[in-house]
Amino acid sequence: MAKNFGIAIHGGAGTIRPQEMSSVKEKQYKEALEEAIQAGYDILNHQGTAMDAVEKAVCILEDCPLFNAGRGSVFTSDERHEMDASIMDGKTLEAGAVSLVKTVKNPIKLARVVMEKSGHVFLAAEGAEAFAKEMGFEQMDQDYFYTDFRYNQLKLAQASNQVILDHSSDIEKKFGTVGAVALDQYKNLAAATSTGGMTNKKYGRIGDTPLIGAGTYADNRTVAISCTGSGEYFIRNNTAFHIHSMMLYGKKNLVDSAFHVVQEELKSIGGDGGIIAIDHLANIHFEFNTEGMYRAARSSESNLFIGIYK
Ligand code: ASP
Repeated sequence: MAKNFGIAIHGGAGTIRPQEMSSVKEKQYKEALEEAIQAGYDILNHQGTAMDAVEKAVCILEDCPLFNAGRGSVFTSDERHEMDASIMDGKTLEAGAVSLVKTVKNPIKLARVVMEKSGHVFLAAEGAEAFAKEMGFEQMDQDYFYTDFRYNQLKLAQASNQVILDHSSDIEKKFGTVGAVALDQYKNLAAATSTGGMTNKKYGRIGDTPLIGAGTYADNRTVAISCTGSGEYFIRNNTAFHIHSMMLYGKKNLVDSAFHVVQEELKSIGGDGGIIAIDHLANIHFEFNTEGMYRAARSSESNLFIGIYK
Protein backbone atom coordinates (compact mmCIF):
# COMPACT_ATOMS: atom_id res chain seq x y z
CA MET A 1 0.00 0.00 0.00
CA ALA A 2 1.24 3.48 -0.82
CA LYS A 3 2.39 5.55 2.11
CA ASN A 4 1.60 8.96 0.73
CA PHE A 5 -1.96 10.15 0.72
CA GLY A 6 -3.67 13.47 1.19
CA ILE A 7 -6.64 15.73 0.68
CA ALA A 8 -7.21 19.39 -0.14
CA ILE A 9 -10.46 21.35 -0.07
CA HIS A 10 -11.75 24.79 -1.03
CA GLY A 11 -14.71 26.90 -0.05
CA GLY A 12 -14.47 29.43 -2.86
CA ALA A 13 -12.09 32.16 -4.01
CA GLY A 14 -12.40 35.89 -4.54
CA THR A 15 -11.97 39.26 -2.91
CA ILE A 16 -11.42 38.08 0.62
CA ARG A 17 -9.46 40.66 2.60
CA PRO A 18 -8.37 40.43 6.23
CA GLN A 19 -9.48 44.00 6.89
CA GLU A 20 -13.03 43.13 5.77
CA MET A 21 -13.28 39.96 7.82
CA SER A 22 -14.37 39.92 11.45
CA SER A 23 -12.45 37.62 13.75
CA VAL A 24 -15.69 35.78 14.53
CA LYS A 25 -16.40 35.10 10.83
CA GLU A 26 -12.82 34.08 10.20
CA LYS A 27 -13.01 31.61 13.07
CA GLN A 28 -16.26 30.16 11.71
CA TYR A 29 -14.77 29.63 8.26
CA LYS A 30 -11.63 28.04 9.69
CA GLU A 31 -13.64 25.70 11.91
CA ALA A 32 -15.81 24.61 8.99
CA LEU A 33 -12.77 24.00 6.78
CA GLU A 34 -11.05 22.07 9.55
CA GLU A 35 -14.08 19.87 10.16
CA ALA A 36 -14.32 19.02 6.44
CA ILE A 37 -10.62 18.36 5.89
CA GLN A 38 -10.36 16.24 9.05
CA ALA A 39 -13.33 14.11 8.04
CA GLY A 40 -11.81 13.48 4.62
CA TYR A 41 -8.39 12.83 6.07
CA ASP A 42 -9.73 10.34 8.61
CA ILE A 43 -11.29 8.32 5.80
CA LEU A 44 -7.98 8.20 3.92
CA ASN A 45 -6.03 7.44 7.07
CA HIS A 46 -8.28 4.45 7.75
CA GLN A 47 -7.62 3.09 4.27
CA GLY A 48 -10.80 4.52 2.83
CA THR A 49 -11.02 5.60 -0.79
CA ALA A 50 -10.35 9.00 -2.32
CA MET A 51 -13.93 8.96 -3.69
CA ASP A 52 -15.37 8.54 -0.18
CA ALA A 53 -13.03 11.20 1.22
CA VAL A 54 -13.94 13.89 -1.33
CA GLU A 55 -17.64 13.10 -1.11
CA LYS A 56 -17.60 13.36 2.69
CA ALA A 57 -15.60 16.60 2.78
CA VAL A 58 -17.90 18.22 0.21
CA CYS A 59 -21.02 17.04 2.08
CA ILE A 60 -19.81 18.78 5.23
CA LEU A 61 -19.22 22.00 3.32
CA GLU A 62 -22.63 21.67 1.62
CA ASP A 63 -24.27 21.39 5.04
CA CYS A 64 -22.54 24.55 6.29
CA PRO A 65 -24.51 27.73 5.45
CA LEU A 66 -21.29 29.76 5.14
CA PHE A 67 -20.57 28.30 1.72
CA ASN A 68 -22.41 28.63 -1.58
CA ALA A 69 -23.33 24.98 -1.99
CA GLY A 70 -26.13 22.85 -0.56
CA ARG A 71 -27.57 24.64 2.46
CA GLY A 72 -26.00 28.06 1.81
CA SER A 73 -26.69 28.16 -1.93
CA VAL A 74 -27.27 31.54 -3.55
CA PHE A 75 -30.57 32.66 -5.13
CA THR A 76 -31.49 32.67 -8.80
CA SER A 77 -33.16 35.74 -10.29
CA ASP A 78 -36.56 34.17 -9.60
CA GLU A 79 -35.68 33.66 -5.94
CA ARG A 80 -35.00 29.96 -5.99
CA HIS A 81 -31.97 27.73 -5.59
CA GLU A 82 -30.54 25.65 -8.41
CA MET A 83 -27.53 23.58 -7.47
CA ASP A 84 -24.83 21.89 -9.56
CA ALA A 85 -22.27 19.24 -8.57
CA SER A 86 -19.88 16.71 -10.05
CA ILE A 87 -17.49 13.98 -8.95
CA MET A 88 -14.82 12.03 -10.80
CA ASP A 89 -12.89 8.86 -10.08
CA GLY A 90 -9.28 9.11 -11.31
CA LYS A 91 -8.87 5.35 -11.40
CA THR A 92 -11.66 4.48 -13.81
CA LEU A 93 -12.30 7.95 -15.29
CA GLU A 94 -15.93 7.43 -14.38
CA ALA A 95 -17.81 10.57 -13.48
CA GLY A 96 -21.20 11.75 -12.30
CA ALA A 97 -22.81 15.16 -12.44
CA VAL A 98 -26.07 16.91 -11.69
CA SER A 99 -27.31 20.35 -12.37
CA LEU A 100 -30.31 22.55 -11.67
CA VAL A 101 -31.35 20.46 -8.67
CA LYS A 102 -33.67 22.22 -6.26
CA THR A 103 -34.58 19.84 -3.48
CA VAL A 104 -31.52 17.65 -2.92
CA LYS A 105 -29.77 18.29 0.41
CA ASN A 106 -26.39 17.04 -0.79
CA PRO A 107 -26.05 17.37 -4.57
CA ILE A 108 -22.60 15.74 -4.43
CA LYS A 109 -24.14 12.51 -3.15
CA LEU A 110 -26.58 12.54 -6.04
CA ALA A 111 -23.71 13.12 -8.51
CA ARG A 112 -21.99 10.01 -7.12
CA VAL A 113 -25.16 7.93 -7.44
CA VAL A 114 -25.63 9.19 -11.02
CA MET A 115 -22.13 7.88 -11.71
CA GLU A 116 -22.70 4.53 -10.04
CA LYS A 117 -26.31 3.73 -10.77
CA SER A 118 -27.84 5.71 -13.62
CA GLY A 119 -25.86 4.42 -16.58
CA HIS A 120 -25.26 8.08 -17.48
CA VAL A 121 -22.80 10.78 -16.54
CA PHE A 122 -24.98 13.86 -16.28
CA LEU A 123 -28.59 14.38 -15.20
CA ALA A 124 -30.25 17.78 -14.97
CA ALA A 125 -33.34 19.51 -13.61
CA GLU A 126 -36.56 17.44 -13.34
CA GLY A 127 -34.80 14.30 -14.55
CA ALA A 128 -32.18 14.62 -11.83
CA GLU A 129 -34.89 15.26 -9.23
CA ALA A 130 -36.89 12.24 -10.37
CA PHE A 131 -33.77 10.07 -10.23
CA ALA A 132 -33.01 11.36 -6.72
CA LYS A 133 -36.52 10.38 -5.63
CA GLU A 134 -36.17 6.97 -7.21
CA MET A 135 -32.88 6.47 -5.35
CA GLY A 136 -34.52 7.35 -2.04
CA PHE A 137 -32.99 10.79 -1.55
CA GLU A 138 -34.75 12.88 1.03
CA GLN A 139 -36.43 15.94 -0.52
CA MET A 140 -35.91 19.27 1.18
CA ASP A 141 -38.17 22.20 0.53
CA GLN A 142 -36.66 25.44 -0.68
CA ASP A 143 -36.82 26.92 2.83
CA TYR A 144 -34.03 24.59 3.91
CA PHE A 145 -31.68 26.44 1.56
CA TYR A 146 -32.83 29.91 2.65
CA THR A 147 -30.41 32.21 4.47
CA ASP A 148 -30.97 35.92 5.13
CA PHE A 149 -27.43 36.63 4.00
CA ARG A 150 -27.99 35.13 0.53
CA TYR A 151 -31.42 36.75 0.18
CA ASN A 152 -29.94 40.16 0.95
CA GLN A 153 -27.23 39.48 -1.64
CA LEU A 154 -29.93 38.79 -4.21
CA LYS A 155 -31.72 42.04 -3.40
CA LEU A 156 -28.45 43.97 -3.74
CA ALA A 157 -27.68 42.23 -7.03
CA GLN A 158 -31.14 42.94 -8.37
CA ALA A 159 -30.95 46.58 -7.32
CA SER A 160 -27.76 47.01 -9.31
CA ASN A 161 -28.92 44.70 -12.09
CA GLN A 162 -25.88 42.45 -11.74
CA VAL A 163 -25.30 38.74 -11.84
CA ILE A 164 -23.08 38.17 -8.87
CA LEU A 165 -20.55 35.43 -8.39
CA ASP A 166 -21.46 34.62 -4.80
CA HIS A 167 -20.28 37.90 -3.26
CA SER A 168 -18.95 39.84 -6.16
CA SER A 169 -17.60 43.16 -7.42
CA ASP A 170 -18.94 46.15 -5.51
CA ILE A 171 -20.62 43.97 -2.98
CA GLU A 172 -17.72 41.64 -2.24
CA LYS A 173 -16.16 39.50 -4.89
CA LYS A 174 -16.08 35.92 -3.75
CA PHE A 175 -16.95 32.60 -5.29
CA GLY A 176 -18.28 30.33 -2.58
CA THR A 177 -18.35 27.03 -4.40
CA VAL A 178 -16.88 24.08 -2.50
CA GLY A 179 -14.63 21.28 -3.65
CA ALA A 180 -12.25 18.54 -2.61
CA VAL A 181 -9.44 16.52 -4.20
CA ALA A 182 -7.76 13.48 -2.69
CA LEU A 183 -5.20 10.74 -3.20
CA ASP A 184 -5.80 7.55 -1.22
CA GLN A 185 -3.47 4.81 -0.03
CA TYR A 186 -4.27 2.74 -3.14
CA LYS A 187 -2.84 5.59 -5.28
CA ASN A 188 -6.25 6.55 -6.61
CA LEU A 189 -7.22 10.16 -7.17
CA ALA A 190 -10.69 11.73 -6.97
CA ALA A 191 -12.20 15.18 -7.31
CA ALA A 192 -15.57 16.66 -6.33
CA THR A 193 -17.13 20.12 -6.68
CA SER A 194 -20.52 21.54 -5.62
CA THR A 195 -22.16 24.95 -5.96
CA GLY A 196 -25.27 27.08 -5.84
CA GLY A 197 -23.84 29.02 -8.80
CA MET A 198 -24.20 32.78 -9.09
CA THR A 199 -26.49 35.19 -7.25
CA ASN A 200 -29.23 36.51 -9.55
CA LYS A 201 -28.28 34.03 -12.28
CA LYS A 202 -30.97 33.30 -14.85
CA TYR A 203 -32.85 30.16 -13.99
CA GLY A 204 -31.48 27.35 -16.12
CA ARG A 205 -27.95 28.76 -16.09
CA ILE A 206 -25.30 26.09 -15.65
CA GLY A 207 -21.72 26.94 -14.63
CA ASP A 208 -18.45 25.05 -14.77
CA THR A 209 -18.97 23.09 -11.54
CA PRO A 210 -20.92 20.13 -12.96
CA LEU A 211 -18.96 20.05 -16.21
CA ILE A 212 -16.32 17.34 -16.24
CA GLY A 213 -13.15 18.95 -17.56
CA ALA A 214 -14.19 22.52 -16.75
CA GLY A 215 -14.80 22.52 -12.97
CA THR A 216 -13.76 19.00 -12.00
CA TYR A 217 -11.30 16.43 -13.30
CA ALA A 218 -9.32 13.45 -11.98
CA ASP A 219 -6.98 11.03 -13.71
CA ASN A 220 -4.63 8.72 -11.82
CA ARG A 221 -1.90 9.38 -14.37
CA THR A 222 -1.76 13.06 -13.51
CA VAL A 223 -3.87 15.00 -11.08
CA ALA A 224 -7.23 15.67 -9.41
CA ILE A 225 -8.57 19.22 -9.74
CA SER A 226 -11.54 21.16 -8.36
CA CYS A 227 -12.22 24.74 -9.49
CA THR A 228 -13.98 27.81 -8.18
CA GLY A 229 -14.52 31.10 -9.92
CA SER A 230 -16.37 32.82 -12.74
CA GLY A 231 -17.87 29.70 -14.28
CA GLU A 232 -18.41 31.04 -17.79
CA TYR A 233 -14.65 31.56 -18.15
CA PHE A 234 -13.75 28.23 -16.61
CA ILE A 235 -16.00 26.56 -19.15
CA ARG A 236 -14.36 28.38 -22.07
CA ASN A 237 -10.90 27.67 -20.66
CA ASN A 238 -11.73 24.03 -19.83
CA THR A 239 -9.64 24.68 -16.75
CA ALA A 240 -9.41 21.32 -14.98
CA PHE A 241 -8.78 19.30 -18.13
CA HIS A 242 -6.40 21.99 -19.37
CA ILE A 243 -4.11 21.47 -16.37
CA HIS A 244 -4.35 17.68 -16.69
CA SER A 245 -3.47 17.93 -20.41
CA MET A 246 -0.41 20.06 -19.79
CA MET A 247 0.81 17.42 -17.36
CA LEU A 248 -0.06 14.40 -19.49
CA TYR A 249 0.84 15.58 -22.98
CA GLY A 250 3.11 18.52 -22.21
CA LYS A 251 5.00 16.61 -19.50
CA LYS A 252 4.85 19.68 -17.25
CA ASN A 253 4.67 19.41 -13.48
CA LEU A 254 1.60 20.38 -11.47
CA VAL A 255 2.88 23.74 -10.25
CA ASP A 256 3.90 25.00 -13.71
CA SER A 257 0.72 23.69 -15.33
CA ALA A 258 -1.58 25.25 -12.75
CA PHE A 259 0.28 28.56 -12.87
CA HIS A 260 0.09 28.75 -16.65
CA VAL A 261 -3.60 27.89 -16.84
CA VAL A 262 -4.85 30.03 -13.92
CA GLN A 263 -2.48 33.01 -14.02
CA GLU A 264 -2.05 33.26 -17.79
CA GLU A 265 -4.66 31.47 -19.92
CA LEU A 266 -7.67 31.98 -17.67
CA LYS A 267 -6.70 35.50 -16.69
CA SER A 268 -6.14 36.54 -20.30
CA ILE A 269 -9.83 35.97 -21.09
CA GLY A 270 -11.00 37.63 -17.86
CA GLY A 271 -11.53 34.60 -15.62
CA ASP A 272 -11.28 35.09 -11.85
CA GLY A 273 -10.87 32.28 -9.38
CA GLY A 274 -8.69 29.36 -8.49
CA ILE A 275 -8.12 25.66 -8.28
CA ILE A 276 -7.06 23.05 -5.76
CA ALA A 277 -5.05 20.07 -6.92
CA ILE A 278 -3.33 16.93 -5.73
CA ASP A 279 -1.13 14.88 -8.02
CA HIS A 280 -0.47 11.16 -8.10
CA LEU A 281 2.53 11.64 -5.77
CA ALA A 282 0.41 13.47 -3.15
CA ASN A 283 1.79 16.91 -3.98
CA ILE A 284 -0.90 19.41 -3.05
CA HIS A 285 -1.14 22.73 -4.83
CA PHE A 286 -3.39 25.80 -4.64
CA GLU A 287 -3.40 28.34 -7.46
CA PHE A 288 -5.68 31.40 -7.57
CA ASN A 289 -5.66 34.75 -9.29
CA THR A 290 -7.97 36.39 -6.73
CA GLU A 291 -7.10 37.97 -3.40
CA GLY A 292 -8.02 34.93 -1.41
CA MET A 293 -9.35 31.41 -1.44
CA TYR A 294 -10.83 29.48 1.47
CA ARG A 295 -8.70 26.38 1.50
CA ALA A 296 -7.24 23.60 3.61
CA ALA A 297 -4.98 20.60 3.16
CA ARG A 298 -3.67 17.66 5.07
CA SER A 299 -1.51 14.79 3.93
CA SER A 300 0.38 11.88 5.41
CA GLU A 301 3.51 13.97 4.88
CA SER A 302 2.32 17.34 6.14
CA ASN A 303 0.34 18.83 9.00
CA LEU A 304 -3.01 20.51 8.75
CA PHE A 305 -2.94 23.72 6.69
CA ILE A 306 -5.78 26.23 6.60
CA GLY A 307 -5.58 29.37 4.50
CA ILE A 308 -7.88 32.21 3.48
CA TYR A 309 -5.77 35.07 2.14
CA LYS A 310 -2.97 35.12 -0.40
N1 ASP B 1 -17.86 28.36 -10.49
C1 ASP B 1 -19.15 28.60 -9.90
C2 ASP B 1 -20.16 28.87 -11.00
O1 ASP B 1 -19.84 29.58 -11.92
C3 ASP B 1 -19.16 29.75 -8.96
C4 ASP B 1 -18.21 29.64 -7.82
O2 ASP B 1 -17.11 29.11 -7.98
O3 ASP B 1 -18.56 30.11 -6.74
O4 ASP B 1 -21.28 28.43 -10.89
